[in-house]
Amino acid sequence: MSFFKRLLNQNDRKNHHQAPTNEGKKPLKVNRTIVLTREAADGIITFAKSWHPNEGILILRGENKHKKGLVHIDGLVVPPFASHGPYYSGFPSYDLPFDLSYVGTAHSHPGGTNRPSLQDLNNFFGLVSIIISFPYEENCIGAFDRNGKSLSITIT
Ligand SMILES: [Zn+2]
Repeated sequence: MSFFKRLLNQNDRKNHHQAPTNEGKKPLKVNRTIVLTREAADGIITFAKSWHPNEGILILRGENKHKKGLVHIDGLVVPPFASHGPYYSGFPSYDLPFDLSYVGTAHSHPGGTNRPSLQDLNNFFGLVSIIISFPYEENCIGAFDRNGKSLSITIT
């Protein structure tokens, strides 16, 4: 685990404690659908290709339309001070402004599948993790929640 990812993880945990939890209650059934604009999808594809054979990582901007069960993603932010390697990517989230429009991250998997690794789940940021695997086509895009559950994606 990289230095940055550890920091990210700590910060993420901190945020998690501040958020309202439903500990002790039945977990809410969340069936989110991820809606990506065409520009956002193309941006993720281009970014992943440009970082190959290393991983690239982006912050997803958008809106959580929780009543509709949708997370709408319409913007990408290049995280400051990101680190990139063939098997990891991360960024120090303490450098980020507190911004409710940051709904998650997208990162690339230069080899293998678009399933999240254990490390990906340990470093989860926001509501959704988008992973795109080589060769970075539209059908290589996967989306996952904090538990690693696959979420459906619509590109509009
Ligand atoms: Zn990963």
